[in-house]
Amino acid sequence: MVEQFHRPATIQDALSLKRRFQGRAAFLAGGTLANAKDSRLHPEHWISLAGLKLDRIDLKHGGLIIGALCPLQRLIEDPRTPEPLRAAAAQIVSRNVRNMATIGGHVAANLPYSDLIPMLIALDAEVELPGLRVAKRVSVMDYITTGATSGSTMRVRSATKSGVMSRCTSACAPGCTSACASGVSSAPTSGSNRLITRIIVPRSDRNRVAACGNVRESANARSLLSVAVSLTLTDFDIHDPIIAVGGVGPHVVRLTSAERALDGKPLPPTGKLAAMISRCVRPTSTPFASAAYVKHQAGAVVSSAFQKALRPKGGRG
Ligand SMILES: Cc1cc2nc3c(=O)[nH]c(=O)nc-3n(C[C@H](O)[C@H](O)[C@H](O)COP(=O)(O)OP(=O)(O)OC[C@H]3O[C@@H](n4cnc5c(N)ncnc54)[C@H](O)[C@@H]3O)c2cc1C
Repeated sequence: MVEQFHRPATIQDALSLKRRFQGRAAFLAGGTLANAKDSRLHPEHWISLAGLKLDRIDLKHGGLIIGALCPLQRLIEDPRTPEPLRAAAAQIVSRNVRNMATIGGHVAANLPYSDLIPMLIALDAEVELPGLRVAKRVSVMDYITTGATSGSTMRVRSATKSGVMSRCTSACAPGCTSACASGVSSAPTSGSNRLITRIIVPRSDRNRVAACGNVRESANARSLLSVAVSLTLTDFDIHDPIIAVGGVGPHVVRLTSAERALDGKPLPPTGKLAAMISRCVRPTSTPFASAAYVKHQAGAVVSSAFQKALRPKGGRG
């Protein structure tokens, strides 16, 4: 039963409250999941984030700094939002939900079928996590795989021609980064113990393009599968591709073996690419879709996202 509703005015106060009440307290942003009828969150203390003034969007050094409390609809409507990010956020149904739901709440909830997390990964986005003295930044991929609480799945950051790329160094199942044997939590709120204050989407190289796609059972249903890809185009070859897929594991995964196979070569014909991607994913059957169906669709949607990204002006950031 909820005993107290706290409305801190500063990030430090929010952190102190969380430290004080630990697992008996939970952060509250837009409330679309936290307040849902079937929510698994039953805290004694709600810590509302509404007073933290974290809903701004700013441009800094060409990158987008998005306050965690920014509603998804505002992100879509902001002219500074890169087109591929706008497209991914717009996949989330419906406008009513997008008006309430915040980007920080979305990432913290870490839903396996998220329509937005794959694109944040494809754009190499980071989350800002405040600490006692300094805030630290971790990649969205790290946050969703570890909750950013341990260094067990640290990623090696290396400079590339297109900017910065990350590679997972954990022991992974072949074909993906993070649906691996590293014991990641399947709880949709696994990351939510650490307060997210901002999401940072870095400026991307001029030749870097990205696109997304999804498959849903019906217009109002959640995605069965959601996909985002990004790549750098040089002459006829693609470089440093990122392929992020939701709906095939306990959280969004990166298909690193496919990324490596595609790097530095022309994009293969659609059928070949689709077959390669289908081989990389290991979904399980659910009441909504069989594993075979999701595997097939993963190939089709990823290849179509690549085509979309490569269209003239198709996937510019
Ligand atoms: C009807 C409905 C339809 C939906 N459709 C889609 C869809 O089509 N596609 C899709 O991808 N998603 C969909 N969603 C999910 C939706 O995007 C998320 O519910 C939403 O983004 C969560 O954000 P929120 O601000 O409401 O978070 P809340 O519900 O307030 O919180 C969610 C979780 O995150 C924690 N939290 C919140 N903010 C922070 C923070 N800043 N730092 C750390 N922890 C935090 C909370 O403690 C809680 O555990 C749907 C949800 C609903 C209810």
